Amino acid sequence: MKPNYINGAFTDGVSSRPNINPSNTNDVIADYAQADAEQTRMAIDAASAAFPAWASGNLQARSDMLDRIGTEILARQDELGRLLSREEGKTLPEGIGEVARAGNIFKFFAAEVLRQRGERIGSVRSGIDIEITREPVGVVGIITPWNFPMAIPAWKIAPALAYGNTVVFKPAEMVPGSAWALAEIISRSGIPAGVFNLVIGPGRQVGQTIIDDPRVNAVTFTGSTSTGRNILAGTSQRLAKAQLEMGGKNPLVILDDADLEVAVNTAVQGSYYSTGQRCTASSRLVVQKGIYNRFVAEVAKCLAALKVDDALKPGTDIGPVVDESQLEQDLHYIATGQKEGARLVCGGERVTRENPGFYLTPAFFADATNDMTIAREEIFGPVACAIPVDSYEEALELANQTEFGLSAGICTTSLKYATHFKRHSQAGMVMVNVATAGVDYHVPFGGRKGSSLGSREQGSYAAEFFTTVKTAYTAA
Ligand code: ADP
Repeated sequence: MKPNYINGAFTDGVSSRPNINPSNTNDVIADYAQADAEQTRMAIDAASAAFPAWASGNLQARSDMLDRIGTEILARQDELGRLLSREEGKTLPEGIGEVARAGNIFKFFAAEVLRQRGERIGSVRSGIDIEITREPVGVVGIITPWNFPMAIPAWKIAPALAYGNTVVFKPAEMVPGSAWALAEIISRSGIPAGVFNLVIGPGRQVGQTIIDDPRVNAVTFTGSTSTGRNILAGTSQRLAKAQLEMGGKNPLVILDDADLEVAVNTAVQGSYYSTGQRCTASSRLVVQKGIYNRFVAEVAKCLAALKVDDALKPGTDIGPVVDESQLEQDLHYIATGQKEGARLVCGGERVTRENPGFYLTPAFFADATNDMTIAREEIFGPVACAIPVDSYEEALELANQTEFGLSAGICTTSLKYATHFKRHSQAGMVMVNVATAGVDYHVPFGGRKGSSLGSREQGSYAAEFFTTVKTAYTAA
C-alpha cells in the first residue's frame, strides 16, 4: 500500500484502494492508502503544531526547499508524466507537459518567497508611522479534482508553503498516484515534519473533516459546483476563508472574418484535447453564419483524423474518458443533445481498443441553440456544439448568456471586434485567436459568476488568498 504522509512520516491508511488505468482496466497502478476522519485530524494536528515555526522560519531555506521540489519534478517529467497519463488518461505529451508546468510552478513560488513586500504609509495623524504587511493565514486545506492531478495540487501547495502556511492536502480519489509522487518529492526537500501532509481518501469523510475542523484557517478547492457549495456552507459556518474553482461552459466565438484554419485548430484543441476534461474547455462554439458551413465541415474532417486510443500509445491524440461513470454521463448528454434537436455531425460513440478502457469518439453537434442542455450544463467530456448566429453582437450576447464565467475566446482578424470582446466578455480569462484552455502558470487563473469564488489563483495574485494583511501603527 502507498501510504499517507502525516507529520513527517509515511503512515498506512485504515484501508486501501486500487488505482486503475482508464486506458486499460486490467492495469492496476498500485494500491493507495485511504485515510479516515481520525487520520485526517492527525494531519491537521501536525499542520497546526508546525505552523508557528514555519511561518517565522528562514526565507532562504523555504525558497531553497521549493526550488529543490521544482528541480526534481522537472528532472523527472518524463517518468512522472507517464504515471500521470497512466492514471488519468490524458496523452503522454499532455501528461509530461502538465508535470513540467507543476515543476515550473514550484520554481516560480521559490522565487516569490523572496519577493514578499510590505508598504510604509504616512498617517493622517502627526507622529505616527503605518506599516502594511502580509502574514500567512495558518493551516490551509487543499482539496483537488482528478483532471489535473499534478498541476492543480502544485498551484495550490506551492503558494501555500511559499507564503508561510502549513498544508493538509486531499487529492481526488481517482488520481492518488501523482499526488503521492508529489508528496514523496516534498518529503525529501528538507521540509520540517507537519508542514505538509497528504491524506488520501473519500471527499465525504476526509474532505468534510478538513472543511469542518476549526483549526483549518482556509480551504482552497477545485472541483464540481455542488461540492463547492458544500465547502462554502461549511467554511462560512465557522467563518474560515474559502477559494473555489468550479465549472465552466466556455464559449468560443468564430466570426466570419476569422482565419478558418486558426478557428478550426483553436476549436478542436480547446474543445477536445485532454479528452475535453478541462474546466476551461470550449464546449460552446458560437459561429457566425457566413463561415458556419465551412467551419462545421472542417471541424468534422479534423475530428475524423484524430486517434482515440491508449493514452500511453505514441500517436494517440485523445485518451480515454476517466472512468465508467463519467463515460455514462457523457453518453447521457449526447443522447439529450439529439433528443433536444441538435444535429450530431460526428463521434459520440463508445468504442473498443486493444485493451479494455473508457473510449469515446469526440462528439460534435451542429445547429444547437444556447438554451439546449448541451449548451447550458458542463459535460466535462469530448463533447462540443456549434451554435449559428447572425452577427458579432448576437455572438457576444450568447457567449455571456451562461451561469459560468471562467474562460471565453474569439477567433477574428478584426481589431475592433477583438478589442470589444476583451472588454465585454463576462469571463475571468479571455482569449483572442488562441484556445480557451491552456493557460500560463505565472499569471492569474480564475473566473466570474458560478465558475469561481474568492480571489485568483496562480502568479503573485495567489498572495491574496494565502496571506492576510496586517496594518501596524507606531507612535514615533
Ligand atoms: P469532480 O466531478 O471533478 O470529481 P468533485 O467536486 O466531486 O468533482 O471532487 C473534487 C474534489 O472534492 C475531490 O477531491 C473530492 O474527493 C472532493 N469532495 C467531493 N465531495 C466532497 C465533500 N462532500 N466534501 C469535501 N470534499 C469533497
